[in-house]
Amino acid sequence: MSHQKRIGAGLLCVIFALALLVSSAFVIHEAGHICTGEDCLICQAIAMNGHLLRLFGAAVLVLAFLLGILRTKHAWADTPELSAPVCGTLVSWKIRLNN
Ligand SMILES: [Zn+2]
Repeated sequence: MSHQKRIGAGLLCVIFALALLVSSAFVIHEAGHICTGEDCLICQAIAMNGHLLRLFGAAVLVLAFLLGILRTKHAWADTPELSAPVCGTLVSWKIRLNN
């Protein structure tokens, strides 16, 4: 990975973390606000931040899943232990136990 890509990826991570932090802090700070009713702007902003946090959570979940698949190189898909028949008995190995 080139140096500029690393810097770009780092900046995206910092922006992502700051967005999560600011959204969470806003929701926590304004959770006990004095609500003016149905058209309350703070309630609308809290709802938007809730959607944003759920979206980020879903994105992180999908990325973690895809990263897990890529890191294991599909090792979970074809494990020879699960597909091969169980044949590790003394009879199958033709071992006699008559001492
Ligand atoms: Zn409100």
